Amino acid sequence: MALRNIRKENDPCLYIPCREVKKFDARLATLIDDMIETMHDADGVGLAAPQVGILRRVVVIDIGDGPIEMVNPKILESSGEQGGMEGCLSFPGKSGYVVRPNYVRVEAYDRNGDLYEYEGEELFARAVFHECDHLDGKVYLRLVTDPPEGEDTEE
Ligand code: ZN
Repeated sequence: MALRNIRKENDPCLYIPCREVKKFDARLATLIDDMIETMHDADGVGLAAPQVGILRRVVVIDIGDGPIEMVNPKILESSGEQGGMEGCLSFPGKSGYVVRPNYVRVEAYDRNGDLYEYEGEELFARAVFHECDHLDGKVYLRLVTDPPEGEDTEE
């Protein structure tokens, strides 16, 4: 495994839609292992392949329960609403108030090409939407709004 360089700020890789993964091979497994190591090293809860310069639909998420890998993720269902402070490893030192759905159900392949379904709320849902946006070349900054009056935005 190896740490990969996290693309930052104006790197074009962050703004280009990613292609689906077609080959579930050793190269994909290495990419996923490297992404998990890079995410953990940077203390992140999620990382998308374009953030390490690979324009493929792969994300890893770890909200503290161990890493989950998602290849070609597809959001099946979302509901509710949550507002909270959000940041991104590609924009270090920045954060902003973002409203996301509070619940998500998503399906995705693992490195072996087996299809799994996941569901979760709050931080997990936020991470899934944030990382899946990256696969479409979108960064969270476009969603930042002012927090509602009186809302505590301390981390
Ligand atoms: Zn991000």
